[in-house]
Amino acid sequence: MNLPLATVSKVLKFSCVDGPGSRLVLFLQGCNFACPSCHNPHTMKLCNDCGDCLPVCSTGALTIVQGKVLYDPSICEHCDKCLDICPINANPKVTQYSVDNVLALLDQNKPFLNGITVSGGEATMQLKFIIALFTAIKANDKLKDLTCFIDSNGYLPEAAWKTVLPVTDGVMLDIKAFEGDLHSQLTTRSNERVLSSARLLFEAGKLHELRYLLIPERTDTAKEIAELSRFVGALDSNLPLRLNAFQHHGVQGEARNWPTMKQPDVERIAQDLRAAGLSNVVTPAVYI
Ligand code: SF4
Ligand code: SF4
Repeated sequence: MNLPLATVSKVLKFSCVDGPGSRLVLFLQGCNFACPSCHNPHTMKLCNDCGDCLPVCSTGALTIVQGKVLYDPSICEHCDKCLDICPINANPKVTQYSVDNVLALLDQNKPFLNGITVSGGEATMQLKFIIALFTAIKANDKLKDLTCFIDSNGYLPEAAWKTVLPVTDGVMLDIKAFEGDLHSQLTTRSNERVLSSARLLFEAGKLHELRYLLIPERTDTAKEIAELSRFVGALDSNLPLRLNAFQHHGVQGEARNWPTMKQPDVERIAQDLRAAGLSNVVTPAVYI
């Protein structure tokens, strides 16, 4: 059987902010949202091999062979000019990983790891790879004690979640907004599936953490915070809720003109949520 390959934009061998403990993180290329607030917009789309980025690459790290863009990381200077010029928010600097490639990486770094997290982009766009990878980890005597987590925007339909949850230990899920039109403006998609995903994951015992991005005058309004409080409280008032604060780092386009979220306002909202009964509200360690 041919196992699927993953299109990977970045690998972090160790991270302490992408799930519990120390984790290897695979950032998978491609997303089904197009959030103006995204701080990694070049992870949104898959390259269509148009070739527009080749002329800006001064090192020859990008070439086109038989109509396909090829990337040579050994001579890339990481200037990111190719990312800046891409007209569709794609990334030519991707690498195809097989399940065996990732197992080998985990094996090399295992003494320092508690698990692996697949992130994005939107990781679940490459669901077949995730299922194959997590299944292989759990069947591997040397690696099976590593936990397998997904960082997701929650747009995956219920039936698809059910195919991956048996081999998944936990999910970190983003909720962008509760009011429907606001969610559509902030992501280009409805939030119905996202809210259903949160409930489904919670019922399955796999919702490790909810994340909520505070954006001034958009998602920090009294109405949105009341809905956030009500939604989390209805699941479990002890559920970890991580508040993130909108900043300009990496953001392109109209959202560069949006105000950034300041620490005192985040702390005030966190206090309000705690006063409303949520006991596990986490605020950002840094604001950049
Ligand atoms: S990364 Fe963007 S500019 Fe470069 S070939 Fe792909 S689609 Fe074209
Ligand atoms: S980041 Fe690398 S591939 Fe992209 S333009 Fe610069 S040298 Fe070329």
